Amino acid sequence: MELWYSENHSPDVRFSVKVDKQLYSAETEFQRIDVMTSEEFGTFLTLDGLMMVAEKDEFIYHEMIVHVPMAVNPEIKKVLVIGGGDGGTVNRLALYKTIESIDLVEIDSEVTEVCRRFFPKLTAGLDDPRVNIHFEDGLRFIRSCRNKYDLIIVDSTDPFGPGEGLFTREFYGNCSRALRDGGILVNQHESPYYDDYAESLMRTHRRIKGVFKVHRLYQAHIPTYPSGHWLFGFASDRFDPVADFDAERWNALGLETRYYNTELHKGCFALPNYVKELINNA
Ligand code: SAM
Repeated sequence: MELWYSENHSPDVRFSVKVDKQLYSAETEFQRIDVMTSEEFGTFLTLDGLMMVAEKDEFIYHEMIVHVPMAVNPEIKKVLVIGGGDGGTVNRLALYKTIESIDLVEIDSEVTEVCRRFFPKLTAGLDDPRVNIHFEDGLRFIRSCRNKYDLIIVDSTDPFGPGEGLFTREFYGNCSRALRDGGILVNQHESPYYDDYAESLMRTHRRIKGVFKVHRLYQAHIPTYPSGHWLFGFASDRFDPVADFDAERWNALGLETRYYNTELHKGCFALPNYVKELINNA
């Protein structure tokens, strides 16, 4: 008997992955957590029935959410990651010896516990001595932060359930106050293709644009995410992610990557016309 994991990417479009084994399933205070194994994507984690992280393609998302901002400002020392309890983002940040501290704020400690158990490679970076993990709501945590961080990465679930508050004007305003002069905010910025995701992309862009001088979207191709076309937001009051970027300096670090490279860094900000239209209409 074949077992398939399915999720809806639109009311009429379903994404399915053939499952070898279900390894874990639980309802936490915040969401439902499932872990399964598959031939195509390896072990994968879903939250509330949506794909979050898969062993075989996580490198795309985590390299793009970390290396783009780190290549723009190599002086980044203090980093805040909101969400990201699976450890993938922290794993890439830990590659940078120049970073002095990483605060990880994850609302659901069970996500991190489960990922330590089933994704040991992905969570290895969480044991880096520079990492401080806070199991609490990022929306609340950020309210007490002033001029503290050079980079904030919002690696959250989608804008409903526990993640909803991380897509609000209040949250982005608090992120701006939490950043030091020249700070950068990067967030997972949903997808432009299916209506519901495009709606949330436009809303998010409108809210961030109202807070930061520079707000530019960039893209990556992630097979396990809706439509495979995924966007990230880059916001700052000082840096332009393409103009203020020194490929040479980043390449000199000699970091191993499987997706990010410095030509792609420039290319990923070149968006299709229909996406530019969505943003302009926002
Ligand atoms: N890469 C995934 C994506 O793009 O959808 C996200 C990965 S990570 C698993 C998302 C994390 O955000 C989850 O572990 C979830 O518990 C956490 N999260 C959701 N809302 C949060 C909040 N308000 N504060 C802190 N963490 C939150």
